[in-house]
Amino acid sequence: SSFEELGLPKEINDGLLAMNFKKPSKIQERALPLMISDPPTNMIAQSQSGTGKTAAFVLTVLSRVDFSKPQQPQALLLAPSRELARQIQGVIQTIGQFCQNLVVEAAIPGSISRETGVRASIVVGTPGTVMDLIKRRQFDVSQLKVLVIDEADNMLDQQGMGDQCVRVKGLLPKTVQILLFSATFPDKVMNFARKYAGNANEIKL
Ligand code: AMP
Repeated sequence: SSFEELGLPKEINDGLLAMNFKKPSKIQERALPLMISDPPTNMIAQSQSGTGKTAAFVLTVLSRVDFSKPQQPQALLLAPSRELARQIQGVIQTIGQFCQNLVVEAAIPGSISRETGVRASIVVGTPGTVMDLIKRRQFDVSQLKVLVIDEADNMLDQQGMGDQCVRVKGLLPKTVQILLFSATFPDKVMNFARKYAGNANEIKL
């Protein structure tokens, strides 16, 4: 199969070409058609790093954002560490390099101006900082269309982070599409995932 078959916008396909991604990886081939289809459905996907999972959810996010509203938050990605949030931000900027007016901000400690708040269509952050910004009304979540949880297993291993993810979700529109990725699914993670992302398609690699 090929990326063209997915019918992604041209500027996204140009980004894939620039990255020299010639064909979808296994997780991309299986998950992308389900994740980008309308009406949006939730996804719970098992995949280790190295499988192409980041590009899988980044492509979905890019396909859902309306770039004519560059400062209106439309996608939120949560990661268990600042470093991972920065890495994901980099992948979005690289695959999205031909998307006009793409603005991606990292919501990690010290990164968002207290004066202006979030002014991006895509936000990648850690749960605590994201929660703070929403509470301070510095992050308008009313138009969010997609929420990604990356490394859910690592998230739940850190004190209080699972709860923060739950609190954040509680403040988002009920229609938000949830994409949850994890390398492992012990019972604790699977139970969390099924509660968090209801009626999801489930993929195991
Ligand atoms: P990840 O699983 O997100 O950690 O990605 C692992 C590596 O695979 C990254 O270096 C990506 O740039 C690369 N990658 C992701 N998708 C593709 C693809 N379709 N073709 C070639 N490389 C890819």
